[in-house]
Amino acid sequence: MPVATKRDYYEVLGIAREATSEQIKKAYRQAALKFHPDRNRSDPEAEKKFKVAAEAYEVLSDSQKRSVYDHYGHAGLNGQGMHDFSSMNAQDIFSMFDDILGAFGFGGRGRAGPRAGADLEAGIEIELEEVITGAEHTIEFDRVDHCDRCGGRGAEPGTSLQTCQTCGGYGQVEQATGFGALIGRIVATCPHCGGQGKVPKERCRTCNGRGLKTQHRSLNVRIPAGIQDGQAVRIRGEGEPSDSGGPRGDVYCRVHIKQHPFFRRHNNDLILELPISFTQAALGAEIEVPTLRGKTILKVPRGSQYGDTFRLAGEGLPDLHSRRAGDQIVQILLEVPRKLSKAQEQLLRDFAETEDHQVLPESKGFVERLKEYFSGRVEDGGQQRKEGA
Ligand SMILES: [Zn+2]
Ligand SMILES: [Zn+2]
Repeated sequence: MPVATKRDYYEVLGIAREATSEQIKKAYRQAALKFHPDRNRSDPEAEKKFKVAAEAYEVLSDSQKRSVYDHYGHAGLNGQGMHDFSSMNAQDIFSMFDDILGAFGFGGRGRAGPRAGADLEAGIEIELEEVITGAEHTIEFDRVDHCDRCGGRGAEPGTSLQTCQTCGGYGQVEQATGFGALIGRIVATCPHCGGQGKVPKERCRTCNGRGLKTQHRSLNVRIPAGIQDGQAVRIRGEGEPSDSGGPRGDVYCRVHIKQHPFFRRHNNDLILELPISFTQAALGAEIEVPTLRGKTILKVPRGSQYGDTFRLAGEGLPDLHSRRAGDQIVQILLEVPRKLSKAQEQLLRDFAETEDHQVLPESKGFVERLKEYFSGRVEDGGQQRKEGA
């Protein structure tokens, strides 16, 4: 480290050599607030100053390091376990000093460091076919964002900010709470400046001084192959900005997969119900079946039964992680002809005679037999309904 160029730590924080630890803390808070990069977007020097202040605080808040520094200066600190703040980002520095900065109304809750901005959710519908290859889509959503006109400062361009009168620039105020003997004081975010410590002299006309504005945003999102219905793709850092120096929230793009006219999905397998005729099932057949990628020939062997399943290996959907493709499962349904030609009916009757099963005679007799059958047992006649009709 080029020792000669380093500024005196007391000077950096603007305090006397005999400053108390409370004074050091307070001075550092003020410096961190003043130079936080998120609040000084137009000033590239701010981040450097912010980091130098952190370094000064690390030394002066530690009695051992402070004593070494007092005696030997910057050179004495080599080997004292100093952080290299210049290579850290502002947020990590904030987390590190959360106990003072967090409580100061600038950082987040507890030990978590500054709060990230709000997460947002956007929905998208894709076709089942797109699950094979993955797909790129554009999502559109509204988010609260920094105001364009004032760059998030809340002040009219060309006008400045002034220290908040309510909190004196601390961003926090003490409030009385409770009653009687239980009365106490709590520290709350300043209602006037919203914890910023500064207020615009002249409010931005677009956002009325809030520094925020709802903006429309469209984003390209890559949907990975193998995604399941209802899963969400996370797009980091595209949510709403933090109000406390933290990172932006994320956008969760929730994916809904449209129902397919033929295929149902079971994990990575695709299920196709295939109606075939009684003769195809009995005699066997080669049948053209759709796959999600095109079509293929399925060999149905002789004597196939209702509900039998056949597996087309690798014709399913890829696994989200391993990319290994599932199978297509074809399940056989039997279709019974609704109408028969005279010739067909005769053939079937001949066929039935070869079996041991009894069949109903031709239609006229059928109606009469039905009447006979139901006469005398009308009272238990729960009505049968045809399903799916
Ligand atoms: Zn504005
Ligand atoms: Zn205030």
